[in-house]
Amino acid sequence: MLGRLVLLSAPSGAGKTTLVRELLKREPELRFSISYTTRPPRPNEQSGRDYFFVSVDEFAAMIKAGEFLEHAQVFDHQYGTARHQVQKLLDEGFTVLLEIDWQGARQVRAAMPEAASVFILPPSVEELERRLRGRGSDSEAVIKRRFRDAVDDISHWQEFDYAVVNDDLGRAAEELHRVIRGDASASGTEQPELARQVWHILHG
Ligand code: 5GP
Repeated sequence: MLGRLVLLSAPSGAGKTTLVRELLKREPELRFSISYTTRPPRPNEQSGRDYFFVSVDEFAAMIKAGEFLEHAQVFDHQYGTARHQVQKLLDEGFTVLLEIDWQGARQVRAAMPEAASVFILPPSVEELERRLRGRGSDSEAVIKRRFRDAVDDISHWQEFDYAVVNDDLGRAAEELHRVIRGDASASGTEQPELARQVWHILHG
């Protein structure tokens, strides 16, 4: 195994997808692991590009066959990372990015302690709520639930090696790029300044 494994988690509304896209532009040696999910595809999503969309039975068969490096129930659906896909990319020498929730990150950290894990934070809870509302089509009840789930997700930030606040896309992408290159002690979750910052994100 030559490459480096990076775990990236964020509450929904933290702007993770845009950040990952920016990072893939900056880092040619980076590859994104495509997850399996039982969630139905959204209108603009393609199987094999965004996710591999599978049935509940297919997902259960993969669990039974031990095909997942990690898997978890997130909201109402199952998500998992195929072991063989990650292994192949690491063997080829790529840096592999897993975009997974905190439960999955826990499992991978236990199996592969050398992996670097990063939590992406929104700049404030107001901004988080604004981004969740900005999606437009969701009902008030759905937005409220997503918001509660997101704040709950944030409570796990200190389990990660690094945390990056997504206040400005260019700045956050640069910081994340440093983490991926293994040069980001300033973003370590043990930094007292970061704990203060997270307190302000949550409590204003
Ligand atoms: P979405 O349905 O909005 O694409 O993703 C919902 C959540 O599932 C996100 O927080 C995302 O990080 C998480 N997720 C996506 N793929 C995986 C995976 O393979 N494993 C785990 N544990 N979580 C995942």
